[in-house]
Amino acid sequence: MMGFFNALLGFIIKPRNAFAASKTMINFKILTDADWENRLAKDAFNVLRKEGTERPFSSPLNDEKRKGTFCCAGCDLNLFSSETKFDSGTGWPSFWDHLPDAIETKTDFKLIVPRTEYHCVRCGGHQGHVFNDGPRPTGKRYCNNGVALVFKPDS
Ligand SMILES: [Zn+2]
Repeated sequence: MMGFFNALLGFIIKPRNAFAASKTMINFKILTDADWENRLAKDAFNVLRKEGTERPFSSPLNDEKRKGTFCCAGCDLNLFSSETKFDSGTGWPSFWDHLPDAIETKTDFKLIVPRTEYHCVRCGGHQGHVFNDGPRPTGKRYCNNGVALVFKPDS
């Protein structure tokens, strides 16, 4: 009976261990809040997992002007290219487009006026809100929390 139980337990536990093998193999969608608190700095946790908003002009990435890629601070997925970054004057890093298959959106009713929230497609981490007052060619403004991003300059 114990043998059967152990075999069953092994069957349940093994797939999870397999996910831990490499960073990109992790199934981020099954991580708990406690897991994320261990993985992230407190301010990043509040934004990515609790849909918080950082103070405007608080992120050094607001002034980042080098060529490179902005990645998710939760799972490292490439989200934005420096090619689409612009100075919106809002105090948050802003982009007029995202990289293909990088983000998903949902409607957020936290304020009286509904807003479109967007998050990383791989880990579900909240990044910011998208508005329709951006520059051409898309007319979109992806208003992103800098603490939810990691910048990787082109080498
Ligand atoms: Zn992510």
